[in-house]
Amino acid sequence: MGEFDLIEHFFWRQAGQGPRRAVVGNGDDCALIAPAPGMQLAVSTDTMVEGRHFLSTVSPARLGHKALAVNLSDLAACGASPMAFTLALTLPRVDEAWLCGFAKGLLDLADEHNCELIGGDTTAGPLSIGITVMGEVPARQALLRSGARPGDDIWVSGFPGLARLALEAFRGSLHPALSGEAFEATRLAMERPDPRVALGVGLRGLASAAIDVSDGLLGDLAHILKRSQVGASLCLDALPVGSWLAERSADEQLDCILAGGDDYELVFTARPEQRARIIELSASLGLVLSRIGHIEAEPGLRLWRGELDVWPDDPERSAVPNRWTSFDHFKGAA
Ligand code: ADP
Ligand code: MG
Repeated sequence: MGEFDLIEHFFWRQAGQGPRRAVVGNGDDCALIAPAPGMQLAVSTDTMVEGRHFLSTVSPARLGHKALAVNLSDLAACGASPMAFTLALTLPRVDEAWLCGFAKGLLDLADEHNCELIGGDTTAGPLSIGITVMGEVPARQALLRSGARPGDDIWVSGFPGLARLALEAFRGSLHPALSGEAFEATRLAMERPDPRVALGVGLRGLASAAIDVSDGLLGDLAHILKRSQVGASLCLDALPVGSWLAERSADEQLDCILAGGDDYELVFTARPEQRARIIELSASLGLVLSRIGHIEAEPGLRLWRGELDVWPDDPERSAVPNRWTSFDHFKGAA
């Protein structure tokens, strides 16, 4: 199978199949696409390289899903709704069964989010998948990292930390090891993340800042703090602990939730006046949203145990040293 047959066979849709968002799609020198009037184009790129971003054991369908999911997660983090994407694929060889699974995982997720594959590039070389995704967001309503203000609440979606738990299970570094059931469930979080697109759109006009968690909750929250020129305090007792993590040691729970990475949940900030609307949004999406801390004027990140809504100088609030920015429990465990 030659390059053009491969592209046509696996990545071009027949008429009536999949969404049509572009004026000119796949197959010409350029695709032509425009956001609706009053909307801005949101663009983001993420590349995945074998061995670095995924294990060679992952199923091709899950890999196709994840390659697009991590890009849709960036759109979600800025409140954009997906329109289209391009695919730069580098393949060591033409393996039709692999391509079939990969294309299915990729295009099923694309269809779910009404996102059209409008072009790409295909070359031979070590396996790598580069995707550029395009979305639209009403002008001036994009959620940015720079909008957090002192007094804002800090929220996180879902149950971060499960992907890291699965990665450590793959590395064989968990003692005790995960049960078979726990391994399959956490592996799903790692290999088949669910981009929080509907949440991002729902947070337009509600959140003051947002970011998706790809490198770990603390590290990604730090990007919001830096861009917004604020500090924060985070209540460790308010962190959402997913069911499979609940069975692990307290240290492991914190390592995975705070510094796990690959979660693709959203961390966002909002004025306290928005709490009721955020709780409504959580119910309408069927997605757990947890309030985990506060934005403060004083720079830096403070961690504490105790009640979420006590004042910073309250003796009930006991400070916990932040060992996660300087020490990674799992470092070197590979
Ligand atoms: P060019 O030589 O003009 O760059 P290519 O031969 O690379 O064109 O690609 C031919 C057409 O196929 C283009 O429309 C391109 O967007 C599309 N294409 C190439 N690779 C992919 C891919 N992996 N997925 C989707 N479309 C692709
Ligand atoms: Mg080309």
